[in-house]
Amino acid sequence: MLNTTKNKYMRLDSEAIRNLEIFQSNQIGISQQTDNSLFSVIDFSKTSLGSRLLKNWLLYPLIDKDEIMARLNVVELFTNNRSLKNEIVDILKNIIDIERTFAKVGVKTANARDLVYLKDSLDKSLSVIKKIENKKTVLKQLKLENSTIKEIEKNIKKVINLIETTIVDEPPLTVREGKMIKPGVNQKLDDIKESIEDSKKWISELEEKERVRTGISKLKVGYNSVFGYYIEVTKANSSLVPNNYIRKQTLVNAERYITEELKYKEQIVLNAEEKINEIEYEIFMQLLDDILEYSYYVQYVAKIVANIDVLTGFAELALDRNYVKPQIYESKSFDLELIESRHPVVETVLQTGEFAPNNCSLIKKEYIQLITGPNMAGKSTYIRQIALIQLLAQIGSFVPAFSAKISIVDGIYTRIGAGDALAQGLSTFMVEMIETAKILNNASKNSLVILDEVGRGTSTIDGLSIAQAVTEYLHNSVGCKTLFATHFHELTQLSLKLKHLGNYHVTVSEKDGEIRFLHKVEKGGTDKSYGIEVAKLAGVPDEVINRAKEILEKNQKEQLGFGL
Ligand code: ATP
Repeated sequence: MLNTTKNKYMRLDSEAIRNLEIFQSNQIGISQQTDNSLFSVIDFSKTSLGSRLLKNWLLYPLIDKDEIMARLNVVELFTNNRSLKNEIVDILKNIIDIERTFAKVGVKTANARDLVYLKDSLDKSLSVIKKIENKKTVLKQLKLENSTIKEIEKNIKKVINLIETTIVDEPPLTVREGKMIKPGVNQKLDDIKESIEDSKKWISELEEKERVRTGISKLKVGYNSVFGYYIEVTKANSSLVPNNYIRKQTLVNAERYITEELKYKEQIVLNAEEKINEIEYEIFMQLLDDILEYSYYVQYVAKIVANIDVLTGFAELALDRNYVKPQIYESKSFDLELIESRHPVVETVLQTGEFAPNNCSLIKKEYIQLITGPNMAGKSTYIRQIALIQLLAQIGSFVPAFSAKISIVDGIYTRIGAGDALAQGLSTFMVEMIETAKILNNASKNSLVILDEVGRGTSTIDGLSIAQAVTEYLHNSVGCKTLFATHFHELTQLSLKLKHLGNYHVTVSEKDGEIRFLHKVEKGGTDKSYGIEVAKLAGVPDEVINRAKEILEKNQKEQLGFGL
């Protein structure tokens, strides 16, 4: 399922999928319902077909500008034409998983009710296609010609007609007990059904006839699959039972009887019904085969519906969250410029207006941002947000920003994972270095790299050395857009010798010893982590906090000089 395909799609490895929390939130103990993954907050699809396709698009983001623009233009059309979008969405809400149901047709596990739903959904799918058949933008994205639409319509109508003319409107869930096939489909079936009409009528009139004859007003005629037809009389009325009643079954409060005549009629009905069930089953199986002939068209329709579902969903997402259409540029244009960008997931968790938007500019002149700043300031959020916006743009979605200029990247690489992989025999630091190695070995000039700390899992001196060497390599040898969040404030010195590296920090305000996180990314480095203040906020005992402050002061005086 992982996308390792080069050239056709953006490269998104398993680390990036996990670290960017695309399908699963990494918050421990989070329940399925509140999963704050990217997928869960952007999926506005109305059908399973759409949700499945969206997952696929997230795994395989596009790198071809025309294809990205084709999707974006459709989203724009639906955001501009809301009544069209709403009409389509209303139809989509009632479309079942055509693909899965059709797969059941293929392996012959579908029942007649599945076919009724399939017919209904195919009919609705044709209504969706009708809504877009004159929309050039949509047809372009779907790579659909008018003649193909006509051909699809013609064939899907045949499937609808096959089901419509064969299967009753409300068939049972079982396929071996008849009651599925409409009259007029098979002469032999109709003849048998007709031949037992008299007997069935006789049985249906028996209750009333016997009530009058015996004077037992509560006498009942019934049927069960074990004992067949019976006449039921409560024990209180046993004395009124006529001589021709033969006892069949005793219940707590009643006796059940049969008569010779009822037995005879029952034989006729049951024998015929067995035959009817057999014939109906054969007709049904033949119908499945006949429908299967049209699998190409059914799958085609399912694909069209899925596409339209995702793209109308993107339009709803854009309108609901105030997303903007990004301007897309070829990779060689290189630059990424976002104004007032937001994190697509974090902004949905916070109250409206609480999320502080940030600008981001990764351009030829300055393609590495080294982001320092206090703990809890929003560094991780910021760097992930840029990566997620890049990803959203390349799947053809609008993005959470005021404006966005995005050059296509060939891959997004991440170094974020803080988790151990102890079960695989890997320590935290080993995992960190494996992720780092993967980036350095695979990223190209046209990639986007985000690093959330490098070298923290070892001694300060080793870690800092590795972090510096990694930054130099990305700057000098790879030359890709990079966001590096770190607490190694010493690294800010690198801007003096790496001319495409810029220092940034996330702001806090400090008043009377109280710190407030402003979550704003601004130019320039910082030399303070406020780690002790954050520890205090977290509830670390005062004794430890005070001691930590003492040690910090002492260390600052001695300065751990580290020559860069
Ligand atoms: P650390 O260095 O401790 O890992 P950090 O700087 O990476 O911290 P984040 O984990 O990104 O900080 O953010 C901490 C919290 O701040 C987030 O959980 C989020 O609730 C909030 N936050 C982050 N960015 C913003 C923002 N732009 N606007 C509003 N709240 C934000």
